[in-house]
Amino acid sequence: MLEKLLVEKRIPSPLILEGEGRADWLTKISFYSLCQEKRSCGECRACKQIKKGFHPDLFAVDGNIKMEELREILYKFRQKPFDGGLRVLTINDFQEASTAIQNALLKTLEEPLSYWVIVLGTNSRFAVLSTIRSRCLLYSLPPNEKLATDLSTEENEIFEQISSQDEISLQKHLETFLKDRSKAKRGFQNLLLLASQKNYPGHWSKVAPLMEIAVSELDRNLNSRLVWDRLWAKSFTEVA
Ligand SMILES: [Zn+2]
Repeated sequence: MLEKLLVEKRIPSPLILEGEGRADWLTKISFYSLCQEKRSCGECRACKQIKKGFHPDLFAVDGNIKMEELREILYKFRQKPFDGGLRVLTINDFQEASTAIQNALLKTLEEPLSYWVIVLGTNSRFAVLSTIRSRCLLYSLPPNEKLATDLSTEENEIFEQISSQDEISLQKHLETFLKDRSKAKRGFQNLLLLASQKNYPGHWSKVAPLMEIAVSELDRNLNSRLVWDRLWAKSFTEVA
């Protein structure tokens, strides 16, 4: 479906592109947006510039970008297109972007200009602030069946236990899972990715939005156990 839109020159923007293989799609979208033949020919001056990693209307960064760098990129991005065509900003692995970085992007997304193409690649929509999600289209790439086996046994078990609200078994696993903050964060992100691919089964429909908030809380130096306890309690009370 995404391919069809690109071929028809209806490039969706601002767009959140979720799932495996998104990096290739970000490149593909850049080619389709800027190609002088409007079909990602690979031969025109624009396509050649993209291949070389330099096109004056293309800004491709990733979620680890520093604040200063992002501000500079956004300032440049807002200037008029060199070729009178589109101006493209892609940010891959947006799940790595801190809350501050995500917030810095908000203003740009509030009033997007007609010649802007903005695409955010992420492993999970829940790693993106809801304020950003509400301003973007969402496209979920078809699931990669292999993923479930990439998660650790522990993560797979926790996934099932959350799904079925099996609190007793869950408690057993949490000790190591929450031991350090970066491990917990990565674990949350893996679980969210799996949940999105399985379309939020069972209790996940309530846990996933809260876990998204939990991931950003872990960036702010909070104790992982505390963050988890609050998330779990809320998943029973708040969404009633
Ligand atoms: Zn071309």
